[in-house]
Amino acid sequence: MSLDSIDRVAVLGAGNMGHGITEVTAMGGYDVTMRDIKDEFVEDGYESIAWSLEKLEEKELIDETADEVLDRIDITTDLEEAVADADLVIEAAPENLELKHDIFSDLEEYCDEDTLLATNTSSLPITDIAEVVDTSERVLGLHFFNPPVKMDLVEVIYGEDTSDEAAEAGYEWVESVGKTPIYVRKDVRGFVVNTIVGPFGGEPAFMVSEGEATIRGADATMSHERGYPMGPFELADLTGIDVGYHVRKEGGSPIPPITEEKVEAEELGQKTGKGFYDYEDGDGADYQPDDAGDFDWLRVEARMANRAAFLVGEGVAKPEEVDTGVQLGLGFPEGICRRADKIGLDEILEKLETLQEETGADRFEPHPYLVELVEEGKTGEDAGDGFYEYDADDGDLDSYHNLNVELEDGVLQVELDRPSRMNALSGELLEEIDDLFSTVDTDEVRCATIEGAGDRAFSAGADVTSFSGADPTDLMDVTPAFETVNDFERPVLAKIDGFCLGGGLELALACDLRIATQRSSFGAPEIDLGLIPGGGGTQRLLRVLGETRAKELVFRGEHIDADRAQDWGLINRAVDREEFDDTVEEFVSDLRNGPPIGLKVAKKVMNQGEDASLEAAIAMESQGFGLLSSTDDVMEGAMAFAEDRDPEFEGE
Ligand code: NAD
Repeated sequence: MSLDSIDRVAVLGAGNMGHGITEVTAMGGYDVTMRDIKDEFVEDGYESIAWSLEKLEEKELIDETADEVLDRIDITTDLEEAVADADLVIEAAPENLELKHDIFSDLEEYCDEDTLLATNTSSLPITDIAEVVDTSERVLGLHFFNPPVKMDLVEVIYGEDTSDEAAEAGYEWVESVGKTPIYVRKDVRGFVVNTIVGPFGGEPAFMVSEGEATIRGADATMSHERGYPMGPFELADLTGIDVGYHVRKEGGSPIPPITEEKVEAEELGQKTGKGFYDYEDGDGADYQPDDAGDFDWLRVEARMANRAAFLVGEGVAKPEEVDTGVQLGLGFPEGICRRADKIGLDEILEKLETLQEETGADRFEPHPYLVELVEEGKTGEDAGDGFYEYDADDGDLDSYHNLNVELEDGVLQVELDRPSRMNALSGELLEEIDDLFSTVDTDEVRCATIEGAGDRAFSAGADVTSFSGADPTDLMDVTPAFETVNDFERPVLAKIDGFCLGGGLELALACDLRIATQRSSFGAPEIDLGLIPGGGGTQRLLRVLGETRAKELVFRGEHIDADRAQDWGLINRAVDREEFDDTVEEFVSDLRNGPPIGLKVAKKVMNQGEDASLEAAIAMESQGFGLLSSTDDVMEGAMAFAEDRDPEFEGE
């Protein structure tokens, strides 16, 4: 059982999840058959896929036409026909154990014995579903998030019997369709993501029930001050208060009184017009930043951190996996392990112990792994060790939390890694860029590239939430990151695919060269917030575009497309997505093989010359020229020219 052997996929169920998983599978290049129990259900699912693919085609988010993708999808109501030739079956039928048992018994009968059998269940143990299958080592969970086309995360879950071979094949398959998998190594209720989200909604509901907080106060604090995409009560109204209620009930967890009351009153959230907020007669979730008050957010984050300690301590997932899970699955602004390390695990432990003492409630009982970390002095970032290790050597390219960095053949490849926030630039991410570009060993680097993770943006701007609460004078201290990139001794190329806005545009402008896909868009929307571009943005725009165009961008705050950006000289090339990698490679190849000292001097003289008088700039240039003429690289360049071969520059 390996990825190589997966060609055909069958998806069982054409509902919310089934049709989305089918679409993702076909977009990933696989032939797929979608099965439901009635013609109208499969047809509806197919139509939803066609509609969605057309939108993706319009927005240039797929490299082929909608019809080409649709050609890989078959629909049927016949189970045997759907699965007979399948190498992977993904079941996405309703959440009912008996029904899933019937389906998996049939699968054992109709499928080849090495077909991988996956379930998309959210809350049933994989082990329970697999108990009707004799060959239960090939049964695993592939838990997609709703909607599968948009959500990048898939949890790959081991049941008790699941073999490593099956889990690895599932994991690789998820990667092959462009999603991000995380392993869930034990079959725990809620897997990784829902284990963490429990206290995010539950604890504020207890606090409000106990009169210690208000709904608006909790929502305003968690979203506006702690950076979560929305407040816990707004989220409960969106997903349905009854949904969380049933999950708690089935899991044997205590139910907050306020949740019980809402369910009894059938006020279940947006779907009934009323929940914690009123959507019919009121303005819905209309909390404002100044509602925040003194809501005790640490009580909520301490409980989430305790759940993370459970997952890590019991060997369910590694800290990186928990953090990827909550960022991609829940849109959290940073991982919970990372955040706990910043707060201090000792402070978190103390909070839990105090609450346990005060309330006597079991839910505050610290997990032994958290206690162990604190006892060993691993209290987080300040101590150099916590969930993560921080005492990495300078120059360790793996030590960044918001960047993925690789150094290959002299090319420093930097990926802004906050896809759940469209790679918005947080203060921490900017610090990491500054650190990387000022400490990396330039002898090892010939050129650098910067790009955004995920498929939506280079970077959609500054992360406003990470700056809220900051003193205006702090914000006026321009982050050195942009200057560090601008002054980096090697050429830096921005690879732009998607939004390049605000702070993202400023970062791209700090690079030397910019290549973008046609679908990309550019803009300086700061003015719409009553601000102006920072990070040198106004000045670099002026220099790159000239006053007329720079003022249009800054004053109007409108986006421009890639063609206009190329016309204006904002980017070097605008190319189709299919040509993107090749075009970038052509540029990178010239930079990587060019003379390092020559490029360094060229960059320096050109950057500094911009701000000097022509006379001074020419003097700088001739100094640079003189310096270069004595290098080995110039000798090599001249010899290679004479011998009609490619030069091999050593940078000496
Ligand atoms: P849904 O009700 O929208 O769709 C289920 C579909 O399965 C229906 O069209 C139904 O007719 C069909 N079906 C019933 N019996 C079937 C059978 N024997 N063979 C094939 N199809 C059959 O449900 P959903 O929201 O898509 O959820 C499906 C599964 O995905 C559940 O296990 C759920 O827990 C899980 N899940 C749901 C979400 C979510 O947010 N909706 C997220 C992750 C996982």
